Amino acid sequence: MSSVIFNRIAIIGLGLIGSSIGHAVKRGGLAAHISGYARTAETRTTALEIGFVDSVHETAAAAVENADLILICVPVGICGQVTQEVAGSLKPGAIITDVGSVKQAVISAMSPHVPANVHFIPGHPIAGTEHSGPTSGFATLFDNRWCILTPIAGTDVDALQKLTDFWQACGCMVDQMAPDHHDQVLAITSHLPQLIAYNIVGTVTELEEDTQSEVTKFSAGGFRDFTRLAASDPVMWRDICIANRDAILEMLGRFTEDLTALQRSIRRGDAESLHSLFSRTRDMRAKIVEAGQETSEVDFGRHTADEPGDDG
Ligand code: NAP
Repeated sequence: MSSVIFNRIAIIGLGLIGSSIGHAVKRGGLAAHISGYARTAETRTTALEIGFVDSVHETAAAAVENADLILICVPVGICGQVTQEVAGSLKPGAIITDVGSVKQAVISAMSPHVPANVHFIPGHPIAGTEHSGPTSGFATLFDNRWCILTPIAGTDVDALQKLTDFWQACGCMVDQMAPDHHDQVLAITSHLPQLIAYNIVGTVTELEEDTQSEVTKFSAGGFRDFTRLAASDPVMWRDICIANRDAILEMLGRFTEDLTALQRSIRRGDAESLHSLFSRTRDMRAKIVEAGQETSEVDFGRHTADEPGDDG
């Protein structure tokens, strides 16, 4: 029995996420043909050489011609512009989706350009690493990871089911959420930890040189894991911060309040409140392991392809 879900798939943006989708589609035989487009000729050539696309095109518009599923896998700040570029070439009845880490801003940017006879279903696979570019993708990136679809009013039920089937065939578990709720949840689970990592590593870069070399030498004391997150693509995270500004500022506000309370507990030597906080946080870790979203093993240097960490 054929496992083809879409005859022709177009992937626009051939970096970590776009290339991983290509590999997952190839692994499952989910499409008869994958066409691809990226901004630079270098990325397009690399994608073709690696073989996670069957053809590459000089423009995004040419890549989407005749495609039944179009996946926009570019930084969130340009999703609207790319949709505008391809709008006139979309096949009637096709599904266009995105993988952006922020949903409300992407929906506002893309929606106005999507023709009425094309189904637009926004999405976000919660899977990633700190690496980027066409050589960083791999077929198992989405295995056992959540993909959140944030359908907008009037979404066609059959198209939604087909996209759900697609992501499941790529290895994902699929859930649905309202776009604003998605942005709030991701602000705390992904965006805030990322900003904390950028901030703590930024603090170290401001220290004197001799202290910095000691930080590098003794980094296994927790700092190393922050550097893995802080090595993520600056363009992607710049765009996320701007696109999800309100939810991120709300979570940063709460975080700052809690940090001030923690500072006070330490200054006062309040052993009871410190112990109480550190016990509650331990419970949270146990719940995440129980939910199958992490292993209980110690994960020093967990930046291997098998253990994705960053999740945009
Ligand atoms: P990436 O590895 O940096 O790849 C980005 C791709 O977009 C590259 O192929 C790049 O082409 C292309 N691109 C950039 N600007 C473009 C433009 N103006 N026109 C056409 N193509 C352009 O990024 P990524 O990590 O795959 O992220 C892509 C999307 O996935 C983002 O929206 C991000 O929010 C989302 N996401 C990321 C993660 C994660 O952990 N990384 C997780 C979930 C979702 P060139 O190579 O030619 O420059």
